[in-house]
Amino acid sequence: MNIKSLDVATQCIQAGFYPENGEPRVAPIIQSTTYKYNDADEVGKLFDLEVAGHMYSRLSNPTCAVLEEKISVLEGGVGAVATSSGQSAVMFSIINIASVGDHFIAMSNLYGGTLNLFKVTLKKMGIDCSFVNPDASLEEMKQHVKPNTKAIFGETIGNPSLGVLDFEKVSKLAKYASVPLIIDNTFATPYLCRPFEHGADIVVHSTTKYIDGHATSVGGILVDSGKFNWANGKFPDFTTPDNSYHGLVYCDAFKESAYITKARVTLLRDIGCTMSPFNAWLTNLGAETLAVRMDRHCENALALAKFLQNHPKVSWVNYPALETNPSYELSKKYLPKGASGIVAFGVKGGVQAGKNVINNLKVASLVVHLGDLRTHLLHPASMTHRQLSEEDQILAGLSPDLIRLSVGIENINDLINDLDQALNHA
Ligand SMILES: *Cc1c(COP(=O)(O)O)cnc(C)c1O
Repeated sequence: MNIKSLDVATQCIQAGFYPENGEPRVAPIIQSTTYKYNDADEVGKLFDLEVAGHMYSRLSNPTCAVLEEKISVLEGGVGAVATSSGQSAVMFSIINIASVGDHFIAMSNLYGGTLNLFKVTLKKMGIDCSFVNPDASLEEMKQHVKPNTKAIFGETIGNPSLGVLDFEKVSKLAKYASVPLIIDNTFATPYLCRPFEHGADIVVHSTTKYIDGHATSVGGILVDSGKFNWANGKFPDFTTPDNSYHGLVYCDAFKESAYITKARVTLLRDIGCTMSPFNAWLTNLGAETLAVRMDRHCENALALAKFLQNHPKVSWVNYPALETNPSYELSKKYLPKGASGIVAFGVKGGVQAGKNVINNLKVASLVVHLGDLRTHLLHPASMTHRQLSEEDQILAGLSPDLIRLSVGIENINDLINDLDQALNHA
């Protein structure tokens, strides 16, 4: 069986774990920090990265490896590293290639946690980020490129403004700057969009959301396409000896897997942020049903968006697959199977009316989460994005009356009836 030749829906179920005769059909949880070896020289070779193998679960673990292999196959990559959260995957994606004195460019419509990481914490580490409006022209974007620019960062579907990324434009920007395009593909998942097919070089996910899909486990993953040329002169860490591994040179030793191997053997080694085997096991279990869940999320979200559009208490609705949406063309191009499960809308009467709606829901609930099988709402301006200034909220595409709906996979009529009765309390 060549897993790469199968459809993504089959890969969700079959990829990552290939048991031999008599072995368990379901990937087991290897809840062990350590691995036994018989020969002292063999362990030395593991430390020197001369041979592959598990040595300590901060660096790798067989259960985490199942999830890593599955997501790598789903994205069409050469390898992946699971992390303890989406935030650590995003951080790793940057600090694997940028350090003090470096710069990168990010779209301005990112997840609130990522905005804080880029604006505050990475800045304190000496890594500077320029934010660009994703609707700006390529020429405008090019003006932000500097000699020390090391990456371009965007989200497939922006959060919470729900703009679909123009991959063609930003991949041209990355090519122009000779740097990798890093995509946070959390909202779309590899079932709806595979960014490597549209010019991305690195993909990150918060697996906490749709990939787990059941709201059981915080986690993240970093995936390498293997396509970027790290020996282009801009990334000396990949072409000069690493003294912490006896002078190993990543591009020479690991070829197209240089980026993902470096992330594992330096960032997981030195910083940690490792996913636990139990979380990897639960996340992999969730990922098995990703394809069927995403179809239902998309179908329910489109139906709810259309219902909201016609509701007298609703002032506006934002869902990329609505024909009236500014992202409709991009959504057709990059998300042909559906535009995922997140819908944003405003209630007539502003913030207080919106709170009345949230407080009167019976099926949908108020939780700070998205992308699991239950329907949730929240009010980003007073919750997930409250640490941003009002100006930055507007820049992130966030209006004060915006309610973010994460549409689950419940029966659509129950969801519509619930929203309808709650809207009547607005
Ligand atoms: C939630 C989220 C993150 C952060 O992931 P955690 O698993 O919560 O750390 C990053 N990017 C996007 C788009 C997200 O939705």
